[in-house]
Amino acid sequence: MEDKHMLMIPGPTPVPEKVLIALGKHPIGHRSGDFSKIIAEINQNLKWLHQTKNEVLSLNVSGTGAMEAGMINFLSPGDRVLVGVNGKFGDRWAQICEVFGLKTERITSDWGTPLDTEEFRNLLEADSNKEIKAVVITHSETSAGVLNDLETINKHVKAHGEALIIVDAVTSLGAYNLPIDDLGLDVVASGSQKGYMIPPGLGFICVNDKAWKAYETSKFPRFYMDLGKYKKANAKDSTPFTPPINLMFGLQTALQMMQREGLENIFARHARLTQASRVAAKAMGLSLLAPDNAASTAVTAIKTDDAEAIRSTMRKKYDIALAGGQDHLKGKIFRIGHLGWVSDRDLLTTISCLEATLTELGHDFDAKAGVKAAAAALA
Ligand SMILES: *Cc1c(COP(=O)(O)O)cnc(C)c1O
Repeated sequence: MEDKHMLMIPGPTPVPEKVLIALGKHPIGHRSGDFSKIIAEINQNLKWLHQTKNEVLSLNVSGTGAMEAGMINFLSPGDRVLVGVNGKFGDRWAQICEVFGLKTERITSDWGTPLDTEEFRNLLEADSNKEIKAVVITHSETSAGVLNDLETINKHVKAHGEALIIVDAVTSLGAYNLPIDDLGLDVVASGSQKGYMIPPGLGFICVNDKAWKAYETSKFPRFYMDLGKYKKANAKDSTPFTPPINLMFGLQTALQMMQREGLENIFARHARLTQASRVAAKAMGLSLLAPDNAASTAVTAIKTDDAEAIRSTMRKKYDIALAGGQDHLKGKIFRIGHLGWVSDRDLLTTISCLEATLTELGHDFDAKAGVKAAAAALA
């Protein structure tokens, strides 16, 4: 059926009708007074969402661009960095560090297992010469549905004193309580197609004073990605280059919707959807990749050898998109995204269609147990 496609993947995420309408407005000049007012409102609301007094810069890039900017603006070639790698995204950040000639040490765990905070502690405590210039952490590792213990790793970084903490919060911002100023996170990157309820195209980066100090001595060449330009423009409610004006209209509307819902309610909704997905999976006889105490609130990864058949049936019969596994987990897991504009009803719909799909594919399980468990978790 036309126009009934349902996105239950961890990005791009569904977009509310109010936002779609805002996106469809005729563009206005980006140097106009009217647009400047919109930027001012967006900037204020981005600070609210990030729980920060610092600037949140918007770049016309995807989340990866925001992370790359977060590295090349505050570090220099040859700097020693520790990168947490327990999934596709951590691996990508290590690759970026390597491409730029940083002395990169990967702290690895299996996909599905949270990073070992003690490994970070040991390396940071042993670094008496303060050679480690940054610790790079993927807070919610989307590829495995794991929420890494950012709070504890951050404590060890703070005890070290010199290193910056650079955080990929792409699927935790707006899905999990991340009080950036209280934690003292130095650089935090995110992207529009995840928790923001708008399409892809904008990357966000929140920078504190310690990182701006590092910016002054950072030696990587950059032009479009030079965050100093964005900071300067931000102070005048402007942007250094032409922003995606229509996406900004959408962002303005989405942030207003988020404010009306309230941060606490948004976090509670994501926690509820996560819990419901997990109990439903177990009730349907499936097992989870991430442990209960390290579950991403954006995405739930479910193990089964017929993951691709499940995804295919869900898409063809019910027009529901689920995410697959990446790299070595392809075919071994599927992932339910419950990030952004996703309601209890959306999740119940997904679980009931999943039950019908599993029945069709011959899974042996108690056929109403999933919906029952999910409904109880949502109640
Ligand atoms: C989606 C995502 C990104 C950004 O990917 P882009 O395709 O560059 O937007 C980064 N980190 C995580 C954890 C993500 O889920």
